[in-house]
Amino acid sequence: MGSKNKKKKEKRNKRNTAELAKRRAEKHKVGFENTAFEMPDDKKQFSLKSDKAVRLDIIPYEVGEGNPWADKGQVYYERTFWVHRSVGVDQTSYVCLAKTCGDPCPICEHRLKLKKDPDSDDDLIKDLLPKQRQLFNVINIKEKNKGVQIWELSFHLFGKRLDKDIQNEDEDDNYSNFSDLEGGLTLKCGVDEKSFGSNHFYEVTSINFKPREEDYDDDILEQTTCLDDILIIKDYDELKEIFLQTTDDDDDDKKDKSSKKDKGKKSKDDDDPDDDPRNQHDDWEKGSRVIVEVDGEDFPGKLTSVDDDDKTASVKFDDGDTMDDVAFDDLKAEPEKKSSKKDKGKKDKKDKGKKDKGGSGKCPAGGTWGKDTDQLKECPDCPRWDKCDDAD
Ligand SMILES: [Zn+2]
Repeated sequence: MGSKNKKKKEKRNKRNTAELAKRRAEKHKVGFENTAFEMPDDKKQFSLKSDKAVRLDIIPYEVGEGNPWADKGQVYYERTFWVHRSVGVDQTSYVCLAKTCGDPCPICEHRLKLKKDPDSDDDLIKDLLPKQRQLFNVINIKEKNKGVQIWELSFHLFGKRLDKDIQNEDEDDNYSNFSDLEGGLTLKCGVDEKSFGSNHFYEVTSINFKPREEDYDDDILEQTTCLDDILIIKDYDELKEIFLQTTDDDDDDKKDKSSKKDKGKKSKDDDDPDDDPRNQHDDWEKGSRVIVEVDGEDFPGKLTSVDDDDKTASVKFDDGDTMDDVAFDDLKAEPEKKSSKKDKGKKDKKDKGKKDKGGSGKCPAGGTWGKDTDQLKECPDCPRWDKCDDAD
């Protein structure tokens, strides 16, 4: 296996350096980094900051590429997109390539794989669902001096209400023309505060459509941002890499906890020979403990992804290195004693209810902690979402 491994090692070292550097850079970044869209330098971002009603004029813009509801060049008032939440080492949101662009999405693919596996955790499958969000160009009547601002939020906190009101309009209401420059309407938005311990978020719970004080000139369009252009669309491989880093980290966290718990208490699934990776050299699964020989030296690690078609896998070594495209033939199952965990999905399921990985928690919206994740309309913007999510 000489030259092959040498090549592999070179590749591994190269990847390692680049990945570590990237990881470090990402980890050391302070504060919130928006990974779903890019704020233009000359624009301010609008957000609901209190439960006081706000009066907003939504300004349409000339649509660019990829808007699901309008063609390029049309003048339209919002951009719908979908994100996967809590992705990568920074646990931020990334645009879902499948729902947003109709392209293959590594996270959706991973979700589909889990869905096919009857042992997968249903909640995990649900968590990986893309969440709908929207961007608007908006003028806050109270702070017109800030010009046209960009408003980004969950579809469930405003857009859904807006859609409903427009659908239910009476013939003489003219709500659907609300964003017209001439004869458009100001939206008086009633806002409710939802509080979560020390955190808060705001939801538009009512909209009154009111005549605008004055019409806008066409010039205002020049102040708007092409909302389609500011979405950050990662390419497939890049998103996959970011996503796998998360699952690596998750595996490590959960492993630390569950391996202690499961010590000496081998799960009955392990008795099933089909589950033993050593008996399945053509059928490795993610999470399996493996040994990869590099230059005659054995390196223990864990499979972070498996490509059954290519018969290759990605390995995260115990020393922190990672290596992609390792042929199944080059994988050896690690001897039993170290095999503390080999099926994340099953363990998670088994541990359900027994432990609360997210710490003790109370759903701020009155739901069941760890169970109602993403079931409630408050969920998309809940600041305790990650902990609730972890607590399943
Ligand atoms: Zn996706």
